[in-house]
Amino acid sequence: MDKQQEYVLRSVEERDIRFIRLWFTDVLGVLKSVAIAPAELENAFSEGIGFDGSAVEGLTRVYEADMLALPDPSTFQILPWRGARQGAARMFCDIATPDGEPALSDPRQVLKRTLDKASAQGFTFYTHPEIEFYLLEKPEPGEMPKPVDRAGYFDNVPRGTAHNFRREAITMLESMGISVEFSHHEAGPGQNEIDLRYADALSMADNIMTFRTVVKEVALEQGVFASFMPKPLFEAPGSGMHTHMSLFEGDRNAFYEAGADHNLSPVARQFIAGLLKYAPEITAITNQYVNSYKRLWGGAEAPSYVCWGSNNRSALVRIPVHKPGKGQSTRVEYRAMDSAANPYLAFSVLLAAGLKGIEDGLELPEGAEDDVWSRATPSARRWATSRCPPHSLTRFRRWSARSLSPRLSASVSSTSCCATSARSGRRTVRR
Ligand code: GLU
Ligand code: MG
Ligand code: MG
Repeated sequence: MDKQQEYVLRSVEERDIRFIRLWFTDVLGVLKSVAIAPAELENAFSEGIGFDGSAVEGLTRVYEADMLALPDPSTFQILPWRGARQGAARMFCDIATPDGEPALSDPRQVLKRTLDKASAQGFTFYTHPEIEFYLLEKPEPGEMPKPVDRAGYFDNVPRGTAHNFRREAITMLESMGISVEFSHHEAGPGQNEIDLRYADALSMADNIMTFRTVVKEVALEQGVFASFMPKPLFEAPGSGMHTHMSLFEGDRNAFYEAGADHNLSPVARQFIAGLLKYAPEITAITNQYVNSYKRLWGGAEAPSYVCWGSNNRSALVRIPVHKPGKGQSTRVEYRAMDSAANPYLAFSVLLAAGLKGIEDGLELPEGAEDDVWSRATPSARRWATSRCPPHSLTRFRRWSARSLSPRLSASVSSTSCCATSARSGRRTVRR
């Protein structure tokens, strides 16, 4: 037994923990949990806890169903919403086959493998997400859920539900060791955003899974419910999980080069070029639901065009402007990912695309300096609208399959966008 495992055993005893929940995720990023008694803990560390892998979405087939969950002791945390006495704690798990081999289909290990590739090239991958979500009132039977308020971007709502909610949720997150950088009301009614302080990508993916659980728990405590659906309200902005990324070599930010164009090093430019080249493939993971494409096509600062720009919120990849002398904070913001994505798989594909860009020495196309949403020609807009009437799901599927795909580039008059989809001005809430 190693020191971390001993620490967990001691903490469980000293804190009188009654249940230890073992957490992992399925392929869609849904949190799975099995509770064990403290007496089972040593066995869980040494042998793992067996379960039916074929009953977990995307994990295994029925004729190879026996799988093991092996808790990672470094992720031990008390669950604050279960009370101080005789409470509960959690650990994230790695999934293994019965002979102890890492399960290829376990999203956490997919990310670990991709991080190993980065590490073999000397890189550590850091991320920080801006997580948007809606707070909705519990609907009466047969009614649609209503947002808890009518407020908008950065609005201060004295004594509003959202205000208390953010305070409670952030206090709970911080008590679990998850640092929060910013929080505010977002543009949609009842829409909120909480931004987590950057961390290595594996810790951050674990943090995002915890975040969703905390937000849902606090919402229930306050008599409302939280939704991470990418586009829950047709007329209001969707919920994105814009992700800021950087590669470090030791203590040095490998994306920064003083005096270079936008202070971006060749490594950063190639990384971005990789993101752009593989954006259609990445989108299948970062935007996995049909509803995801209602957001990507629905305006309100969600990206529809594959291009990059400095300080340009209409682009897929934005380079935030940082203060002179703050080279360490040079980073790339990928804006397509939505709040319902599986963070392990999403970070994996983003990193893999960026690394491929570096490996192949890809050249970065010219950046977009204008509002790329205004580029669609009137005929392209008509084309898009006629093919995607608001309530046609079937047509939406067809549309979504092409969204963020190079195939539509011909329909948009663009110079520096390398691949585009046209959008309907009718649905845009804020430009
Ligand atoms: N809600 C927008 C989206 O879906 C993002 C707004 C913002 O820039 O924070 O991506
Ligand atoms: Mg936002
Ligand atoms: Mg952002």
